[in-house]
Amino acid sequence: MDAIQEDGAKPQLRAGIYARLSETYDAAESVPTQLANGAKHAERRGWRVVARFKDDGYSAFKEITRDGFIQLIEAIERGAVDVVVIRDVDRLTRNLTDWNRFEKACVEHGVLLSVYTGGDLDLSTPEGAYYGGMETLRAKRESAVKSVRVREGKDREARKGKRASGGSKWFGYDRVYANPDEPLARKRIILREELNPVEADALRDAAERVLNGETTGSIIRDWTARGIKPKGGKEWSVTALVKTLTSPRIAGLREWQGKKYPAVGWPAIIDADTHERLVKLFSDPARRKHIVGRKHHLLSGVAVCGKCGHPLYIRIEKDKPQKRSYGCVKGPGGGGCGGIAIHAELLDEYVTAVVLDALESPDLQKAIQAGEDSDAPRRAELLAGIQRAQETRAEARRDLARGIIDREDWLDIRQQTEDVISKARRQYDRLAGSATVFGDIPPSEQVRDVWESWNTDRKRAALKAVLHRIVIKPQPEGIGKNPYGQTKDPVKRRERLLEVIRQRVEFDWRF
Ligand SMILES: [Zn+2]
Repeated sequence: MDAIQEDGAKPQLRAGIYARLSETYDAAESVPTQLANGAKHAERRGWRVVARFKDDGYSAFKEITRDGFIQLIEAIERGAVDVVVIRDVDRLTRNLTDWNRFEKACVEHGVLLSVYTGGDLDLSTPEGAYYGGMETLRAKRESAVKSVRVREGKDREARKGKRASGGSKWFGYDRVYANPDEPLARKRIILREELNPVEADALRDAAERVLNGETTGSIIRDWTARGIKPKGGKEWSVTALVKTLTSPRIAGLREWQGKKYPAVGWPAIIDADTHERLVKLFSDPARRKHIVGRKHHLLSGVAVCGKCGHPLYIRIEKDKPQKRSYGCVKGPGGGGCGGIAIHAELLDEYVTAVVLDALESPDLQKAIQAGEDSDAPRRAELLAGIQRAQETRAEARRDLARGIIDREDWLDIRQQTEDVISKARRQYDRLAGSATVFGDIPPSEQVRDVWESWNTDRKRAALKAVLHRIVIKPQPEGIGKNPYGQTKDPVKRRERLLEVIRQRVEFDWRF
């Protein structure tokens, strides 16, 4: 490090002061303070301040902008300054590329660097260059260490059960702020979460109901009817409900890196045991498809490929979302041949018309009434088994509370009953697939009205009750790529397409 000695005989040096916002907010180092101290320093040295450069804004990427730094380099290259005044080397840059650029400009134009908290650097000397580069590296390392410390701090807080700051509001709770009148949401300080009695009750009730076999759809309908809305939303989705029900938070737990810690700052709505059962329930693959699965389309999986027999699924074109088709999806390991596709809307329409006709026909009605649901006794058996297991579990829980059995026994019983229940539920779901709606196919004269009132899942169930499957055959020979012929009339085009579809569909009835 070379100290620059002013001897008054030399012409007065022109100083440029550079200031940069600190990442860690520190009033003592604010940009105006840096500029003022830099000016005092220049005055003491007898330099004339000719330019001030500052970086005190944030870019779109939440990084401090560096327009001022670039202007500084340009000023050096123009020969507009003889000395650059800064608070510290780490104010200049923490980036070696930037540092190298700065150093090169200074050396080429004979510009000195003066650090007002330290000394002066002549970057053309090996010591000056070395010191400046090392300081940049040191600052870079310090910044990295600081972010590790922030991470470690977060980790410690989480293990203590403390919440992450901010975030959207939680269903089941009311947030209590230290400064509720603060208009900027991100500046509000959260003190704690208190129970929202209505939402907390609804959650407890829903947890019990789904554990007893009720569907999430049914809970959502109930909540919607009661006006229970998600925080910040209008209506519940199945995904949102499942996420809420399985969230460790409502069991008074803070999840952090896959582990759960007792929470500080908010009460539990359900107990930890119920939480674990909910997590298990919703991660059961036999259930998952009913819960978070894709949106059902009328004939997805009901229609099958006429070439390879693989079920067809809906395909939506990215740029034409209204143009949907059912297609055989190619793929390794259980995929189809990819050889069949058919217009979804028209196929739905055609199949619906045929099935409604069939449902209205006296023959099918008679067959349905006479049709013995051969799986019914087995389903009743399974349901009774589920109920018995649930009772056993409830009894064991009471015994545990009364001290009749110990915790180990209870865990054992819980595991056994859970296994029985999930196994029985899987079997029940399989059997229920085709037969649930047997009993409530409406009489002929009501078929169409009732059909209209059903949602897609209900319609699919009715279809599966009367049909094994629908086979979609390839496009007939000679139709080629243009089933419409020459006409542009939309009504005629539709009719022609329907005519082709009629030729391609084969119904495989149960009756
Ligand atoms: Zn196929």
